[in-house]
Amino acid sequence: MVLGSIEAGGTKFVCAIGNHDMEVLERVSIPTTTPEETLPKVFEFFKKYEQELEAVGVGAFGPIDSNKKSATFGYITSTPKLAWQNFDFIGELKRHLNVPINWTTDVNAAAYGEYYFGHGKDLESLVYYTFGTGVGGGAIQRGEFVGGMNFPEMGHMIVKRHPEDNAKCVCPFHSDCLEGLAAGPALQEKAGRPAFELEPTDPIWDIEAYYAAQCIYNTTLILAPEVIVLGGGVMQQTHLLKKVKQEFEKLMNGYVGYPSVDEYLQTPALGNNAATIGCLAMAKALLK
Ligand code: ADP
Ligand code: ZN
Repeated sequence: MVLGSIEAGGTKFVCAIGNHDMEVLERVSIPTTTPEETLPKVFEFFKKYEQELEAVGVGAFGPIDSNKKSATFGYITSTPKLAWQNFDFIGELKRHLNVPINWTTDVNAAAYGEYYFGHGKDLESLVYYTFGTGVGGGAIQRGEFVGGMNFPEMGHMIVKRHPEDNAKCVCPFHSDCLEGLAAGPALQEKAGRPAFELEPTDPIWDIEAYYAAQCIYNTTLILAPEVIVLGGGVMQQTHLLKKVKQEFEKLMNGYVGYPSVDEYLQTPALGNNAATIGCLAMAKALLK
């Protein structure tokens, strides 16, 4: 018997089949275009596992309505991707995949993977941030996602501008939010070329560290997690973490305790697999 994973991202859907030991057996990547075009390909992938598939875990780009009392529970809501706006995403999956479905946001799924199989394995709380096309954060405490009315949208927290950053905030909703100043496209806006082309010596990384440190500072004061995992394409700049740690320690100025900064701030133990493993684990959790 097998488990399914769907990471519904802004640029691609990654669908995977895994076993109960969280080993990925097959994986496909499907471009995210419109629901009419993308979803039939997703269903086709799972079709061949119809007899063995027990449950599916989904991590979706958001915001998605996770309020069980809401009439639009399971809908993708105010996404800038117009074709997906106000789309009954989970409803559509349930109509086609004849198994129990467990779902959350993409970044919560990655947090779930790291919590059970990565840096959170022996802990009771963890926060996961991705710095990629957007910035998103997911928090887990004692095995449960933190949230109320909805899942948190920590990636859009307001940050203080770096004195040398005069670039436009690229978030269409906010001025000076973290995503709009520190995600990959924001770095491109500052530099005039893609973030992955920037040299490690580029002063932009000091600006990036300044924002990431504020994010970690705020998160520490509000949630006091035992570990914060920093993932996403931008964090593949291996020199960046050291700068972030320095800026964070400066900001915190010894105010609250945390493990040593090297234990406290980590890159994903599961690498790019955090969300896939999180989705498989969420699927498995439904079977208990
Ligand atoms: P997504 O957020 O779409 O899932 P990624 O986490 O790979 O995907 O993020 C993509 C963003 O990260 C792009 O803006 C890209 O420029 C940036 N990025 C990817 N790789 C690197 C890198 N090595 N260094 C800096 N930025 C990178
Ligand atoms: Zn924003």
